[in-house]
Amino acid sequence: MVTALSVTEEIILVGDYMYDAKSLKAEEFIADEEVRATLKYADENKDNLQVLDEIIAKAKLGKGLTHREASVLLACDNEEKMQEVYDLAKQIKEEYYGNRIVLFAPLYLSNYCVNGCLYCPYHMKNKHISRKKLTQEEIRREVIALQDMGHKRLAIELGEDPVNNPIEYVLDSIKTIYDIKHKNGAIRRVNVNIAATTVENYRKLKEAGIGTYILFQETYNKESYETLHPTGPKHDYAYHTEAMDRAMEGGIDDVGLGVLFGLESYRYEFAALLMHAEHLEAAHGVGPHTISVPRVKKADDIDPTAFDNSLSDEMFEKIIALIRVAVPYTGMIISTREGKAVREKALALGISQISGASRTSVGGYVEEEPEDDNSAQFDVSDRRTLDEVLNWLITLGYVPSFCTACYREGRTGDRFMTLCKNKQILNCCHPNALLTLKEYLEDYASEDTKAKGLAMINRELERIPNEKVRKIAMEHLEDISNGKRDFRF
Ligand code: SF4
Ligand code: SF4
Repeated sequence: MVTALSVTEEIILVGDYMYDAKSLKAEEFIADEEVRATLKYADENKDNLQVLDEIIAKAKLGKGLTHREASVLLACDNEEKMQEVYDLAKQIKEEYYGNRIVLFAPLYLSNYCVNGCLYCPYHMKNKHISRKKLTQEEIRREVIALQDMGHKRLAIELGEDPVNNPIEYVLDSIKTIYDIKHKNGAIRRVNVNIAATTVENYRKLKEAGIGTYILFQETYNKESYETLHPTGPKHDYAYHTEAMDRAMEGGIDDVGLGVLFGLESYRYEFAALLMHAEHLEAAHGVGPHTISVPRVKKADDIDPTAFDNSLSDEMFEKIIALIRVAVPYTGMIISTREGKAVREKALALGISQISGASRTSVGGYVEEEPEDDNSAQFDVSDRRTLDEVLNWLITLGYVPSFCTACYREGRTGDRFMTLCKNKQILNCCHPNALLTLKEYLEDYASEDTKAKGLAMINRELERIPNEKVRKIAMEHLEDISNGKRDFRF
């Protein structure tokens, strides 16, 4: 079996790793025996101060941690050591992402689904939920509503249904979304969250110009996975778990991972999630572009307390901090499944992208969801408007960013990762954040948000280190005041 990692091998290896990070077979790169060996190793070392210090020292190099090392920290309840980890997570967040937060919105296209997932109200056996699939005209109306809020980046979501939601429908919808130019609005990046599919379909998505392909694993524990997905194509653990490998074979080099915390033991999921990230890096040379951290939430016929692995807010925050430390170069996403207070803490610990003003039902942006509407995938905890979210971010000292520059400039996959790992990407992120914020302030902001945002832009211009870039950014800001749009570095 392959031993995947180097720097602290002598510290943490009590035996060979029991998995093959380069294998393309799910049960070899997410080997159950390796996850269990990791949990055992973490339990044995969580109070070993020498091991803890060595792992934290490695983390301070800012190059990440292995799943075993990070799992030791997750098991550790030494308050002093954990404070060091939280401080480090904040520092790494600041170094890689500064004070910028990228915003996006989900767009639900269809809730038809042939799967039987026990934690989702769209499961096929739910006969009383209203089923909807947007026509291209309805998509147009939803997108105009999103543009009128100020959104530039969407994640499209739809259930798995080869008859109602074939790949052609997804491709048509992406084209519709990109083609809509309404006032000064534009959707400049469409990320796609659809069921695991074939290499050929991934190739078609790539050709359609998608940003990131996102697929949540839900749970990495094969036995639980099969129980939670009793029927439908999603029942096939290997096919689902190997989806990112097929996506990469189809040319999509930005992929987004995630588990649905609460379904299984969080320690198992955490170790396996990092093993999946290690696998992508080992097998394809590119780690995950993003990691999402959803928790099971209430929805129509779903009661989250039916799953006995629910996660406290404190442990959830610890996981976010540890993912930040373990994979510093990977963006982290938190949705409106979480309320304002949790999101606020999560931002400081490592989150780089959030959704704002989300509707999780099909057609929810145009029609106000009626009280008795039951078509949402989950209940939204943060129901603020996008302007309220921006105002809140600015007040907290974060620069809201609608930047979509990288994939439009061809900075994807290993090219993006190289720029990200050596932090050169920062020369683009900060000015792009200011330019896209300025567009928002001109076109969509309330008076109060506009005043606070303009003051922020003036302050933040000083933080662009390169004088030439700063000068160009100032010229573009002026151009935006004069009605021009869509500048990027
Ligand atoms: S989680 Fe996805 S695949 Fe499962 S029932 Fe819901 S929409 Fe369908
Ligand atoms: S420049 Fe690239 S990495 Fe930075 S915010 Fe924009 S799209 Fe993201």
